[in-house]
Amino acid sequence: MKIAITNIATIVTGDWRDPFARGDTILMEDGVIKRVGSASADEVQACDFVVDAKGTTACPGLIDSQVHIAFGDYTPKQQAVGFLESYVHGGTTTSISASEIHVPGRPKDREGVKALAVAAKKSWDNFRPGGMRVHGGAVILEPCLEESDFEDMRRNTVWLAKAGFGAVKTPFDYVPLVKAAKKAGMTVQVHTGGASISLANSIHGEHLIAMGADVSYHVNGGPIAMPDEDFERVVKESDIALQICQAGNIRTALMCLNLAVENDCFDRFLIATDTPTGTGMMPLGMIKSVTEMSTLSKFPPEWMIAAATGNVAKVYKLNNGFLREGKDGDVLLVDAPMGGSRKTCLEAIKHGDVWSLVGVFTAGVPRFVGRSRNTPPPLRYPKVVESRIMNDFSAQQQFK
Ligand SMILES: [Zn+2]
Repeated sequence: MKIAITNIATIVTGDWRDPFARGDTILMEDGVIKRVGSASADEVQACDFVVDAKGTTACPGLIDSQVHIAFGDYTPKQQAVGFLESYVHGGTTTSISASEIHVPGRPKDREGVKALAVAAKKSWDNFRPGGMRVHGGAVILEPCLEESDFEDMRRNTVWLAKAGFGAVKTPFDYVPLVKAAKKAGMTVQVHTGGASISLANSIHGEHLIAMGADVSYHVNGGPIAMPDEDFERVVKESDIALQICQAGNIRTALMCLNLAVENDCFDRFLIATDTPTGTGMMPLGMIKSVTEMSTLSKFPPEWMIAAATGNVAKVYKLNNGFLREGKDGDVLLVDAPMGGSRKTCLEAIKHGDVWSLVGVFTAGVPRFVGRSRNTPPPLRYPKVVESRIMNDFSAQQQFK
């Protein structure tokens, strides 16, 4: 399938160091971005699907690195169906599993823990709700797991692990488990702060530094934050990615953002939601955090979009998150909302208003063009000028 998007006013790349691309056109072919910038009339005419962006803004699809998935498009926590498809209508095109801890009656024995991760990984490989790609199957680190178990799971394509909900006596017991998971080639995420887990197992700065995991999940609290003085230690004494979440503490999220920039490690700053949880099912959770971090800080909105796209892709080694040749065709069209005081999407975000989402492409497939289900109406609507493709609502992952 060949796709062209023309007349884009602003192309946000997802790379905070080089946040804008020149030109007004994006070409996609067979699931990936073929070119960003310009195209000849012949090249556009050869496409199966052509959209005139009508002066809207393009940016990479958002990557939420903390989603509480279980199996299928259903969240046991909030008893809601269709939440992932709804998240696509907020701009989230990729979700990373926070481990399948909400599966009712989840097993805690050695074989059960492994089986759950393998089954979740393989199930999500075949299922794309609303076009979203879900990286499922994050094994829950339990003290019963042995080094050979991690190799077994890795052979079965599991590549994510999560520390924080195992039957450990102290968070320091995670140190050998994190080491074994990393040795097997897994990316390890760790719960940070208190509240969701028992007081005795609250995970603070000293634990994060000792564990050496890859991503501090909701470093700003999930939902309760670690002590303020621990943030500077984690920024300076570790190289762990600093994931702030919509469901956490907004004051410490901002403090973490400022520390990341001051210490020259904005690459480690990631935006996620930590939903659906007690905080709710939040289709606009990602864009709300992008907007809050933009409007409450002195930093530009294109940096916060990068924290929700390119920065995440680099930490998790994904082939999306950037509008760049060869990357996955995960593209959003967005605009300033109608009725506001700002004329472009980026100005609106800086002002504190969420965007209007007017088009979503994932894996180089158009999922919708026009008004999203969940965002306010835009100032401008893109227009489909050519379509020679069939709609496909099967949610199967035919297009990788
Ligand atoms: Zn969580």
